[in-house]
Amino acid sequence: MSDAPIRPIPQPGILDIAPYVPGKSGAPGSSYIKLSSNESPLGASPKAIAAFRSVADTLDIYPEGTSKILRTALGEVHGIDPELIVCGNGSDDLLHLLAQCYLGQGDEAIMSRYGFSVYPIITKAAGASIVMVDEDDYTADVDAILATVTPRTKIIWLANPNNPTGTYLPDAEIRRLHAGLRQDIMLVIDNAYAEYVTAEDFTTGANLVREASNVVMVRTFSKMGLAAARIGWMVGPDHVVDAINRIRGPFNVNLPAQLAGAAAARDSEFNDRLKAHNAQWRDWITAELDASNHFRVIPSQANFVMVLFPDAEHATLAFETLRDRGLIVREIGASYGIPDGLRISIGSEQAMRGVAGILNALVKVA
Ligand SMILES: *Cc1c(COP(=O)(O)O)cnc(C)c1O
Repeated sequence: MSDAPIRPIPQPGILDIAPYVPGKSGAPGSSYIKLSSNESPLGASPKAIAAFRSVADTLDIYPEGTSKILRTALGEVHGIDPELIVCGNGSDDLLHLLAQCYLGQGDEAIMSRYGFSVYPIITKAAGASIVMVDEDDYTADVDAILATVTPRTKIIWLANPNNPTGTYLPDAEIRRLHAGLRQDIMLVIDNAYAEYVTAEDFTTGANLVREASNVVMVRTFSKMGLAAARIGWMVGPDHVVDAINRIRGPFNVNLPAQLAGAAAARDSEFNDRLKAHNAQWRDWITAELDASNHFRVIPSQANFVMVLFPDAEHATLAFETLRDRGLIVREIGASYGIPDGLRISIGSEQAMRGVAGILNALVKVA
């Protein structure tokens, strides 16, 4: 008899999971500017805020369970059949459900080495193994992914553009990846930053979803001004939608979120303004930091840039110096294995000028 106490034991794999590390916030009540979680620097759509407030007096009533209002708005805006949309409490909710539905003991899911750090969590939570594939200069490598597929492979998790690198695969590469996969392997295209992409050879996963029976596109409102409301959505073939709808929480998206999301989806004026602001300051800070030769800014299609420093010590010094000046960025050593990098969300003009000024001054001292 061992002396180990008798107590409930989590399923295999659960205790191997390293918990998700969110971007840091400043101390409560402090005046830090948060550039660590890729939130909107222009707040939320005013129409979404009004919609959220409009139901404050009916919080006692269950929401409509399938998020019909939100699916209808998304269907209209994106030209997608609302019956093929499932909404979630953030896109994390949907990613978890996909893992739970399609992965189990003995299965493998494949992701890119510097892919989104939620993928290993949801894969292991479902009892499966995560297989990391090396990248080509911080960009997903289609040939390497295809070469890693085994008979056990069930899902490919691909963020496009990717977090934390900001890199993307063009339409032709996504199609090449899909064409090289067995039809029983699900390709999950996580387009969390699609709204910010300016590259002309990019497409969302929506077209492939229409053409194939093993592709799912996952989206979120979090990076477009509604992170607190927790709204995600996915589009997939009918058989996937059916499976996910069997296991999702019956009321997984709350009413204020459904209405705010529907209003935000339709607020193209606000969404265009956010995209234009982001493109302007993403280009600006990329050029500003790249000019110094001390930093390498990986070209980004998202609402953040990944900046590489000569080594981990320089990255830590830069993180601490920015923090001491009131600017919180994201360290990506422990959670992403890039200790010489920092991820910096695109913020206000003032925040971007602040970051560039502080980092460039640091080089002169060093
Ligand atoms: C932020 C992010 C998400 C999840 O966002 P939710 O807030 O859960 O909707 C999903 N995928 C990637 C790549 C992200 O960066």
